[in-house]
This record gives sequence, C-alpha cells and structure tokens, in this order.
Amino acid sequence: MRRIVWILGLLMIAFVLALTSASAPVQADEDAATEPPAATPTPPPATLPPIIAPTAPPPAVDSFSEDGVTLEVLFDRLQQGRVGILRLTGEDLIGGRVRFRDQEVPFFPDSDDEDTFYALVVAGVDLTANRDYEITALALRENGDSVTINGTARVVLGGFIRQDVTIPADRAYLIDPIVERTELARLNSLFEQYTAEQLWDEDGFMLPVQAETTSPFGAFRVFNETTESRHTGWDFRTATGTPIRAMGAGRVVFAGLLDIRGNHVVIDHGYGIFSGYSHFSQTHVTRGQAVRSGQIIGVSGNTGRSSGPHLHWEIAVNGEWVDSLDFLRMWIPPAAPSEDDDAVVGT
Ligand SMILES: [Zn+2]
Repeated sequence: MRRIVWILGLLMIAFVLALTSASAPVQADEDAATEPPAATPTPPPATLPPIIAPTAPPPAVDSFSEDGVTLEVLFDRLQQGRVGILRLTGEDLIGGRVRFRDQEVPFFPDSDDEDTFYALVVAGVDLTANRDYEITALALRENGDSVTINGTARVVLGGFIRQDVTIPADRAYLIDPIVERTELARLNSLFEQYTAEQLWDEDGFMLPVQAETTSPFGAFRVFNETTESRHTGWDFRTATGTPIRAMGAGRVVFAGLLDIRGNHVVIDHGYGIFSGYSHFSQTHVTRGQAVRSGQIIGVSGNTGRSSGPHLHWEIAVNGEWVDSLDFLRMWIPPAAPSEDDDAVVGT
C-alpha cells in the first residue's frame, strides 16, 4: 500500500513537472508573436464605452489673421480619416468659404454669435501623412469686400490595421473592383449635393445601435486574398432583425439596394455631413423622408457583400470618409437655425 502511495506521489510530481515544462515554450511563442504580423487578425468583438461628446469647443491651437479677420484652427494635428474644426471671426462678416485639398465648403454661422462662423475639414484616409497642407479661407464682409486668409494644417497617419476577409463563393463577384468603383461613384454623387443648413437637431448625434464592434474604420482589407479595399465605416455584430436608428435628424437621400452595401440608407444631416447604414434585411424609410434623431430606419441583416449579419455604419463629411465613432466623440458647432421654416426637418 505504501509503495502505491509512493508511486502515485512520483507520478503527480512528474505530471506537475510536465505541465510546467509544457507551458514554458508557449510563453516563448507569445513573446515571438509580439512582432507585427503581415495581416492583422480580426480584433475580438469589443463593447464600446459610453460616448459623451464635449459641450464646449476645443481650444484654438493655431490662428492666422488678415485685415481684421481671424482664422483659428481648433485641432493640433489631423489624423487621416478625421474631422477638424475651423473658426472664422471678424466684424461685419456675413460668411465665407474654405478650401482644403479637394474640399471647398462654406462656413456656417454660429448659433449665438453673429460674427463667428465654423467649417469642418477632413483629412482623407489616403492623404499623404506627415505633411503640412494649405488652408485657404475667403471671408465675406457686409460691404461686399472679401479677405483671404492662408493657414496650414498638419496631417498624420490614421493608424489603420490590415484585415483578410473571406467572402462566400456565391457572392465572390462582389469583390470585382469595378463593382466597388461604380457604387462609390453613386454615393459620391449623393455627397456632392451640399445642403447649406443644419438638419441635425439639439439631440446631436448618437450610436445607431448598441452592439459589439467587429471591424474598425479605415482598415486595409484584402478580400479572398486578391482584392484590396478600404473599410469606410465601423461594423457592429447585430442579429438579423435588430432595429437600427438614425444617428441624428436629417433627410433620407437614398434608401435602396446596392451591390456591396446591400439594402442601404443614406441620411443628409446638412453642412456636408452624411451617414450611411448597410446590409439591412428591411428598410423602414424612403427617399426624401425627414427623420428624427434615433428614429428606427430599418432592421439589420446580411444583404450585399457581407459574411454574416451585421450593421456597417459609415459617415462622409465633405465627400471624404471619416471615422464614424470619432465623429460622435467630437464637439460639433451648433449652427444658427435656418431662416426658411419650410426647410427645418426633424418633426
Ligand atoms: Zn463594414
């Protein structure tokens, strides 16, 4: 009996030793894996912390003045795929325009101060980083005079990941670059219809769904090991039939079926801000319809270039894709209400 106990004890010691030695190489492998892989594996689903947008503008980081007019840059550096805010101030100003890369947009009036105007500028996801770019503002005075102010903004890398994505064989035709180019051209023609009024309301902007994120904005994607593309929004894991809400008040400018985005809705929020919602199983709005912030616009599904039920949510500002989650974390200047009562939506 004592011998059996002795043998059992030896076996246990051997077992513990085997476990210890077996775990050692695993540790070494983990260390080796800290080298950046060629492709970034799909990140695990992540639950988002609450998003609270600031209630006050960020401080001015740079300022450029000319003939009594000041252009302030309210951001330090602009990451690729991010939005920056410009402020224009001066006496007797009635407005102005700003040019930044391909974007030329009007300044919009502040809701409180008639001498203050704002504009949003975007660093495109493909804009060469670590360079300074010119900002040219044209301010218009009541008496018809105009003042040109030149400034600069530094653009830095967006820090995007790379993902390999497998699309099922029966949908593989959707990775044809021509299909993607055609669809983007159609969306761009919507984004070119600039609405020079604020269509969003005092509720601001919100998440269209509370769900885990499964793929980040801006990712370099390789579909079926052949076609390269960029991810224009964030993906959320949503079972088919999950209600999806408008991120803010606005007007529906597209509700229909697209090859890649499937059943898709685009909402114009005014001042160059558009939001898009893809892969719906059912759409609950039609083109031209005014929507409230948080209104259910459809239910999620798996239509289009999709490998499982999810919501793809994207935002374009001035015709450039921007990080939709980052946009929710920004202070957005409140614009003065439109003088044309008929143009106000959200009721
Ligand atoms: Zn997506």
